[in-house]
Amino acid sequence: MGLSAPVCRLLLCLLLVLILPVGITGCTDQAAPPATSRTVILGFDGMDPALTEAWMAQGLLPNFSSLARKGHYQRLATTNPALSPVAWASFATASNPGEHGIFDFIRRDASNYSPDFAISDIKPPQDFLELFGYRIPLDNPEITNRRSGVPFWMQAERAGARASVLRVPVTFPPDPVHRMLSGMGVPDLLGTQGTYTQVTSQFTRSNDMGGRVVRVKPEGGLVKTALGGPSHPLNPELGALTVPLTIAQARRGAVDIDLAGAHFTLSPGQWSGWVPVEFTFAAVTGVHGMVRFYLVEGFPRLSLYISPINLDPRAPAMPIASPEEFSAELAERIGLYHTLGMPEETWSLNENRISDSAYLEMVSHVLAEREAMFFDTLQKQDSELVINVFVQTDRVSHMFWRGLDKEHSLHEGVTEQGSDAVQWIYREADRILGKTLAELGPQDRLVVLSDHGFTDFRRAVNLNRWLVDQGYLVFSGRKTTSGVMFAAIDWQRSKAYALGMNGIFINRVGREAQGIVEDQDLAALKEEIMAGLAPLTDPDSGTAMVSRIYDGEEVYRGANRGDAPDIVIGYAPAYRASWETVLGAVPKLLVYENDTKWSGDHSVDPAHVPGVLFTNFKPKAAVDSIEDISSLIGVDGEAP
Ligand SMILES: [Zn+2]
Repeated sequence: MGLSAPVCRLLLCLLLVLILPVGITGCTDQAAPPATSRTVILGFDGMDPALTEAWMAQGLLPNFSSLARKGHYQRLATTNPALSPVAWASFATASNPGEHGIFDFIRRDASNYSPDFAISDIKPPQDFLELFGYRIPLDNPEITNRRSGVPFWMQAERAGARASVLRVPVTFPPDPVHRMLSGMGVPDLLGTQGTYTQVTSQFTRSNDMGGRVVRVKPEGGLVKTALGGPSHPLNPELGALTVPLTIAQARRGAVDIDLAGAHFTLSPGQWSGWVPVEFTFAAVTGVHGMVRFYLVEGFPRLSLYISPINLDPRAPAMPIASPEEFSAELAERIGLYHTLGMPEETWSLNENRISDSAYLEMVSHVLAEREAMFFDTLQKQDSELVINVFVQTDRVSHMFWRGLDKEHSLHEGVTEQGSDAVQWIYREADRILGKTLAELGPQDRLVVLSDHGFTDFRRAVNLNRWLVDQGYLVFSGRKTTSGVMFAAIDWQRSKAYALGMNGIFINRVGREAQGIVEDQDLAALKEEIMAGLAPLTDPDSGTAMVSRIYDGEEVYRGANRGDAPDIVIGYAPAYRASWETVLGAVPKLLVYENDTKWSGDHSVDPAHVPGVLFTNFKPKAAVDSIEDISSLIGVDGEAP
């Protein structure tokens, strides 16, 4: 899933990216002996057991069926909440969220109640030299993975194994292992989790969450504009760095595009290849990114979509690989590839910037890149442990569940391609599994898993509206609604607030900046809120919206449990927190129909969305949950 661009822009400041860190070391010793017995772990994010079992029974997933028959298959319990960063962090560290400290995509900053990115943190340099109107940083930005604990691939390396870890979520910045390419957590060149650009002559809403709209007026079949990049690294007051972008009418609805000297032609409905772009400053140096273009419509109603500006793996502005040069070496062998942590452009489709088919073509492209890098690594035979997570199963399920869910409001209008999309990506997973099995030797062990399953998302719940209606969250003045980040809330009179996908926080004295709930009142207040929420029904249908409410103190154990939500909502299938709730807004209604293409989800009660686990061997002990994967393969994680 993705985060809203404006919020993420707040979170990551790009000024930092220019001076490259970090003493990552790795070993690419060409003379090293080949790995004779390997453990290969293949993740398919969001692969759902109900769909998998049904399609195996129909013979549609022959490689999964064969693996289940000859080896082992079971459903795999996920974390609470059932979210990718939380579950993959538990996978990595063999610990529950109270230990590794990742509870959501969003964490809240108790000092000001604002949402913050939960996965990684980038602190700008602290020391500067003021010179000629510039601020020249004298130290490096500090980039940290917010996940605590030691991932099991580090343990494996300490025990003498070589680990290749590709695109596992929550691995930014990279760990110093034999080979790593970071996954979810890597920002784009703007410092966000993915901001698209739409250049258009048409009138369009420009307050969408996922991107920015550049309105243009073509003159004689020509548009001269610019692609905005990061802020000026040495003086943010100078604004964003830009590169010139010219779009000219060509024949048959096509356009000629020139981006800072890179020249190519695009027809309507066509994606470009990667176009490298350098944002220069101070005349001599620059930051390297790359984009892909998609022409929605040519002149006169021009609509040109530009992907988020990915870091160029040949000269990444931040550390994304271990050893550092691995990202460039990989690009040399397999071509340029998406580096953004969550590169599938879900928001572009959700906000109707691109079509279903354009989105699926993009997913196909990302999948091909991931496949190439995975098999490139596997065929090297130089790692005892190989881990690769394919997230495309999740991204297609989010956006095309409407094809499976007959009750979703967009089900009727789904095209044939859209109806088949989820099954298509599962068959792709099966194809990749077959190819993997063919690469394995008799000594090699294979583990295939997903981090959670999937379910319907038809109704969006404004949890903060409920808290307001019950008097736990109070507006300032005469306001009756609030924008994101609790814009209109009186904290001196508010006892609880909802933020992120599943959490409610109590406004506690000594923890929140303006906390009013004393420690001795905490338990009774939580009990009261939980009792109030449990019977919550949809006012339009009378359906129960909540499956189970969890007390954060009971669910989480470990050193980081202090950052956990006080109450965790386990929604019933088809219900989910609204995007407004996630970002701390209070709209008018308690519940509304989800009429967007983001039509499947998993942030419900974890009991409803387990993942899958397949192995090519019989496990020696029961595997209870995703926390147990490292012990399944005989390596222990280490909690902090
Ligand atoms: Zn997801």
